[in-house]
Amino acid sequence: IWNNCLDIIRGEINAQAFKTWFEPIEPVRFDQKTLTIQVPNNFFYEWIEEHYVHLMKKALIEVIGSSASLNYRVLKDQQEVSNTIQLNKKIEKDESPDFRNPFVFPGIKKIKADPNLNPQYNFDNFVAGECNRLARNAGLAVAKKPGGTAFNPLVIYGNVGLGKTHIAHAIGNKTLEYFPDKQILYVSSEKFTNQIIHAIKSNEIQDFLNFYHQIDILIVDDIQFLANKAKTQEIFFHIFNQLHQDGKQLILTSDRAPKDMQGMEERLISRFKWGLTADLLAPDFETRKAILDNKMNKEGIELPPDVLEFICYNIKSNIRELEGILVSLIAQSSLNERKIDLMLTKEVVQKFVAQISKEITIDSIQDLVAEHFNLDVDVIQSKSRKRNIVTARQLAMFFVKKHTNHSLKKIGKAFGGRDHSTVIYSCRTVNDLIDSDKSFQLIVEELEKKLTMSLHAI
Ligand code: ADP
Ligand code: MG
Repeated sequence: IWNNCLDIIRGEINAQAFKTWFEPIEPVRFDQKTLTIQVPNNFFYEWIEEHYVHLMKKALIEVIGSSASLNYRVLKDQQEVSNTIQLNKKIEKDESPDFRNPFVFPGIKKIKADPNLNPQYNFDNFVAGECNRLARNAGLAVAKKPGGTAFNPLVIYGNVGLGKTHIAHAIGNKTLEYFPDKQILYVSSEKFTNQIIHAIKSNEIQDFLNFYHQIDILIVDDIQFLANKAKTQEIFFHIFNQLHQDGKQLILTSDRAPKDMQGMEERLISRFKWGLTADLLAPDFETRKAILDNKMNKEGIELPPDVLEFICYNIKSNIRELEGILVSLIAQSSLNERKIDLMLTKEVVQKFVAQISKEITIDSIQDLVAEHFNLDVDVIQSKSRKRNIVTARQLAMFFVKKHTNHSLKKIGKAFGGRDHSTVIYSCRTVNDLIDSDKSFQLIVEELEKKLTMSLHAI
């Protein structure tokens, strides 16, 4: 029975979370429709209750039925915590289509449909950074004047784990704050598609359209999911036009820019470009730190600074992963009763990233220095004589000389085909600067620390 539950749970959460929180659980017994599971400690129990109770409910109902209940046994104190999960009440047993005209009761005034917003995703806990400046500002502007800006639709795109869903909800929540009477709806493209399939099957397409035509602010998450779904696209096209024409706001997210959406009808793509397209980029080091800081506060834990920096140095391109590491650390430390130090962190990080860079390379140095000076790597290799670029370039050469075994010739080549005397000159200049300029020295130390962080990982 537990295994069946696990199968369901596995399908709903990411592999890391599953491994962290569900693999350590052991089923103890099952009688009278009550399943008893054993968790390693109290912390586990609380975490699961707080974060996964819905999922557990869902799984249990599917496997055992709605009269099931669940007991926890906490291993450490052999204490049994009973029956926190009451399953008899209505569970969101999937997507009962909510479009069956929740607005209209015969003869009575309009009532509102559930906007389906997650209050946990708001602007207060959305850390601002260069990486999300445009999207964030546009989102805030749209929330103030939904339908009344040039940003219609507002299309936000970015790679997985960079905050699309978060900001989509945040915009919805903010709009709701300003305009509690407007009808907002957040819907994932997947759900939208399922609703259509269902509506077609049960001959309710008109209800479906009526429902969507009454939305004031429509947020559709992950529209790339509509690719190659002709019927869904056609219906969405219809809804889009109607809402846009009525001055209603559309907010869409996608994992790629409109122009790159293969399998999407041209007429839809061209409409996506009517408003503003804003991308979410991977956060820089400081923003990663701020995000992790934020998350630590929320979970009420504190990490030593070197641990924090180590994580942020190694996890670069996915915020969900950044958070995953934190959660995994918390779990590991509670499971093994270890304190969260650099050692434990390395073990955990290593499970996430296939390889932590084992050696310092010219590329990694150029990346690091470019990031610090807010430059493109290309610029460092260019001929530009601009002051800050020259400094960045010289510093990067200095690091390469110091931390790799490359020849002067090779180094010069990697920096836009300069000759070896330029490299020597650069290293000397940097050394002089370190001696004469205290703040420069601090920058060098900071960068050097980041650089060598990756080495400790092994
Ligand atoms: P996506 O939808 O792009 O795959 P999500 O919106 O699900 O990404 O974000 C992944 C995780 O990262 C979420 O837990 C989210 O809260 C968090 N996150 C993303 N961007 C930020 C940010 N700027 N500040 C704080 N947390 C963020
Ligand atoms: Mg998402």
